[in-house]
Amino acid sequence: MFSKILIANRGEIALRVIRACREMGIQTVAVHSTADVDAMHVRLADESVCIGPPASGQSYLNIPNIISACEVTGAEAIHPGYGFLSENPVFVQALEDHGIGFIGPTSEHISIMGDKITAKDTMRKLGVPCVPGSDGGVPNIEKAREIAQEMGFPVIVKATAGGGGRGMKLARTAADLDSAFSGARTEAKAAFGNDEVYIEKYLEKPRHIEVQVFGDGKGRAVHLGERDCSLQRRHQKVLEEAPSPVIDAETRARIGKTCADAVAAINYIGAGTIEFLYEDGEFYFIEMNTRLQVEHPVTEAVFNVDLVQEQIRVASGEEMTFRQEDLVPRGHAIEVRINAEKLPEFRPSPGKITAFHAPGGLGVRMDSAIYQGYRIPPYYDSLIAKLIVHGVDRDVALARLDRALSELIVDGVDTTSPLFGALLQEPDIRNGNYTIHWLERWLEG
Ligand code: ADP
Repeated sequence: MFSKILIANRGEIALRVIRACREMGIQTVAVHSTADVDAMHVRLADESVCIGPPASGQSYLNIPNIISACEVTGAEAIHPGYGFLSENPVFVQALEDHGIGFIGPTSEHISIMGDKITAKDTMRKLGVPCVPGSDGGVPNIEKAREIAQEMGFPVIVKATAGGGGRGMKLARTAADLDSAFSGARTEAKAAFGNDEVYIEKYLEKPRHIEVQVFGDGKGRAVHLGERDCSLQRRHQKVLEEAPSPVIDAETRARIGKTCADAVAAINYIGAGTIEFLYEDGEFYFIEMNTRLQVEHPVTEAVFNVDLVQEQIRVASGEEMTFRQEDLVPRGHAIEVRINAEKLPEFRPSPGKITAFHAPGGLGVRMDSAIYQGYRIPPYYDSLIAKLIVHGVDRDVALARLDRALSELIVDGVDTTSPLFGALLQEPDIRNGNYTIHWLERWLEG
């Protein structure tokens, strides 16, 4: 087992990893930008190293400085959290070259899944059902027209290197295709430095259902059921729950096995998420995330596991402790993402937190790195807390979420917390009756 781990991240996820390490008796090293000197992850880690100025390109994405911090402190492995360098194959290759452990999959698997075309191709060959679409990149508008005509409108043009909902444009009819194609390319070039795009059939009313998988890197893998992340704004998740209100035990076992078998076949190591759109009883693969997800706590709640500790265990060479037959979901969990944003525009609202009180009590978990007097810097994403509730069934979880939200106090900045109070009043949310478009329509209404 490792004796010291460096956490190449900030915010709540850095705390999440520090907590896992402390319980395992592992020393922790925080890295931080000059804007994060007072951050909670710096305070809670055993050691900390400043790796650069506020802009993440020069700090949290600064590979040489992070590797130097590792060497200076003697950390044997890096946990990347999510975002930043967590799915960067160049970073993982650099660690492999320096003999530093990476708590995540191999650079090869990250590369395959980071390119959505090779990801789909790989998954299709492994027997995972995919969204119908172009076989590979679409080089020009003529080819795009040909493919879209053949497939039928509506279609969605997506960036091969896509992420965070960027580089994605809908074409409802042939008349929209030219602007969707050039728009997706321009956005992809600006966001990812790569303008390759592909085309998929646009699904009209799907849910976003994702399967948590975990592999030991030696041909064994399990699944930990699904999360329903259909409540989205601008293709970004806002609320996640497990299990999905529309997936039964038999369907869960079937899609779960397909996913576990697929990652076992490639000797995948650690945590991964296979994302699907789900419509009319069919699953359509859209992408795989080769890291811990923001919403992993809902899975931890219903399966009573610690995904971060398991990641650390397998990365250090120990055996995976998960066995499929032991992984039985219990009850229902819901997570809401509380962002420092002003409603209704969701405008970032950085600044000083003048008062803070976290909810607690039975079945309530709050993952957050804020504290009273903390100044939220304007440089990073606006997630300030994840509130996760767990109950014996969905109704109990909903009541618990309502109760927990009523206890939460964050003064000094605006947050998205009132959004969830309002959502809990909606019959569709109470009944679990929503698709990926529900929230945007409701917000427009
Ligand atoms: P990103 O990596 O940018 O998050 P994804 O491929 O995971 O992109 O898609 C993000 C979201 O975009 C999905 O959850 C869904 O809401 C929407 N989306 C993606 N592909 C399609 C599609 N073929 N039809 C309808 N909606 C889609």
